[in-house]
Amino acid sequence: MDRPQIWLDFAPELHLFVSAPRRAGRTALRTDGTSTLGHVVESLGVPLTEVGGLLVDGRAVPEAHVPADGEEIAVRAVTRPQPSPVPPRFLLDVHLGTLARRLRLLGVDAAYENPDIGDAALAARSAAEERIMLSRDRGLLRRRELWAGAYVYSHRPAEQLRDVLSRFAPSLAPWSRCTTCNGTLQPATKTSVREQLQDGTERSYDAFAQCTDCGQAYWRGAHHARLEAIVTEAVRDFGRCQESGEDQGRIGVVSG
Ligand SMILES: [Zn+2]
Repeated sequence: MDRPQIWLDFAPELHLFVSAPRRAGRTALRTDGTSTLGHVVESLGVPLTEVGGLLVDGRAVPEAHVPADGEEIAVRAVTRPQPSPVPPRFLLDVHLGTLARRLRLLGVDAAYENPDIGDAALAARSAAEERIMLSRDRGLLRRRELWAGAYVYSHRPAEQLRDVLSRFAPSLAPWSRCTTCNGTLQPATKTSVREQLQDGTERSYDAFAQCTDCGQAYWRGAHHARLEAIVTEAVRDFGRCQESGEDQGRIGVVSG
């Protein structure tokens, strides 16, 4: 039996995943006649987390569609912002530690574990906690157990942050979350955090916060200029600040 020949056209955003000949536009492919379209697309290198729609002869079809001979297939990229059924929460793989800290700096729930717990455990945690798995590892993003996933397109943390914020549009609440452990911060007294303070800090500041999970102390003022710049830019370009976050902008990060 002849194997069906189909025609595939990938959206420009997906070109980095496919081989060079398939970036030029519509190209032919012979399938085995039984594989689903989702499998076909994935086997060509495109994580299904990055596919926003599959059209056959202009008609939307599910990933389970089995392509027939002669079909013209368009593979679309995800839309930005990408709709989410719940406020997005994230889980980052071991290579994305800087991105995790920057998301937390903005108050975005970003779970991260180092050392690496392994792909199976990451996928299980994504499912159990309904977290969007962020990774540059296509193998990890292929795992069926994932609740949701997203490829991180850049290797540079500044671009990674813009990628995630533009894609999922999470609410921002800067300086409300512990950058060390992802716990939430609550106001603290100088007495309660005194043992974590150096002499100068104790004299100079009188507004403190503390992580409810790990106990890390934070204080008002004296932010590192680089962190201030990250927050200012993110709020300017992607700001959907939570109502309670407006006066948390003065809680600084403990040095060291
Ligand atoms: Zn903490």
